[in-house]
Amino acid sequence: MTSESKGKLEILKAAADISDWGYGRWTYEQWEIFNEHYWDGSLEPGGIFWGLTAHGQSLGSYESWRNAITLHKALVEPASNAWGRGKLLGKKFAADVLLHEMIHQALFQQGKVCPESHNCEAWCDEINRLIPLMGIETSLIARPVKQRRIKVESVGVDGKLSTKSKVTWEPRPGFMSRLTIANFPHSLRSHSYYEKPAVQLGKKSGLLVDSDHCS
Ligand SMILES: [Zn+2]
Repeated sequence: MTSESKGKLEILKAAADISDWGYGRWTYEQWEIFNEHYWDGSLEPGGIFWGLTAHGQSLGSYESWRNAITLHKALVEPASNAWGRGKLLGKKFAADVLLHEMIHQALFQQGKVCPESHNCEAWCDEINRLIPLMGIETSLIARPVKQRRIKVESVGVDGKLSTKSKVTWEPRPGFMSRLTIANFPHSLRSHSYYEKPAVQLGKKSGLLVDSDHCS
């Protein structure tokens, strides 16, 4: 980071001491750590706001037009029980939401385009690069998932075996599903990683870190 960027970050931290006392500074410090560890300090700091995200079900969002990350206040608000995910999701959980949004920030700042937000080359390359750096253990590889036809065998009422083909979004063996790709890194954390077990965090349809829109 340039000294100008560092100066901006210090101003943002001081402002967060007033606007988001108790967690605002922590968020910028996490941002700074992630920026150093995973992007060699190359990302340009911007505002990290706590409030409601643009799309109701998202825990975070990144808006490239103003280089701003928004994190849902349910992540820190003790009284909230958003989506039945427990009252306090914990710092590790919030840090992972921040990291996810920082990947969007990094791709934008590097001029990489991802029309479908997550199911694209740039996003997949980035998470493949981050997995070993983050110490996540998985043998799965991220590649954009394309619809394909697979053969399904079934036994008819007459007892005869028949083969049909159907269209599926299922990944090929050894590759990640679209959901796993979109919910990185939460989707690859072990059950015991977060302060609260995944069951308490809710598992309706997998954890939706953000919706499939980034503006
Ligand atoms: Zn996202």
